[in-house]
Amino acid sequence: MTVFPAESARTVLSPNRRSRPTFLLIGCAEMEAIPLPPESRFARPIVCRNLGNVVPPCADPDGGVAALVDYAIRVLEVRDLVVCGHTSCSAIHALSNAQAFQGIPTLSSWLRHLRSALNGFDFDPGRTSQAEIGLQLAEANVIGQLHHLHSHPAVLACLAEDKIRLHGWLYDDATGAIRTYSPEHCCFTEGAVVHAATTAS
Ligand SMILES: [Zn+2]
Repeated sequence: MTVFPAESARTVLSPNRRSRPTFLLIGCAEMEAIPLPPESRFARPIVCRNLGNVVPPCADPDGGVAALVDYAIRVLEVRDLVVCGHTSCSAIHALSNAQAFQGIPTLSSWLRHLRSALNGFDFDPGRTSQAEIGLQLAEANVIGQLHHLHSHPAVLACLAEDKIRLHGWLYDDATGAIRTYSPEHCCFTEGAVVHAATTAS
């Protein structure tokens, strides 16, 4: 087996630099659109979609997400990595109906990555409706998956060298608006409504 050094991998795997993605978006498979904010650094995504916009932690690799993260960082050299959840996420609803999925072992197993992300999560007692609780869980899942991203060595190394930026978004399926996570304030803030969104593929 031949192991290519990093520069050779860039030549082999990404020959067409004109179409090089500008950022990695890890989103939920059921999102009906891929949000594209107007900033040029978010012009062309390389997209990883799975149920619940999951980033399995490095110690529990699953589904090839880690390989795509490494590819995006080390080969495509993207500078922005986004975990994007959405407001009507079935994976979030599935968490509270685990009994219904006991006959689907692959799904039950996959949901462990959401439980891990939500470990230690505290409900805001001010949010009492099912919709509010679901929104709060979707937000917490984005934050938890960002924590999972931090477990990957390539991400840690690039963060230490200030080569990449991590972002948490929550896409509103009804309005197209993005709320962005602010680590400084530990909350999501209202963002611009995103009009330029690609249709799901
Ligand atoms: Zn979803």
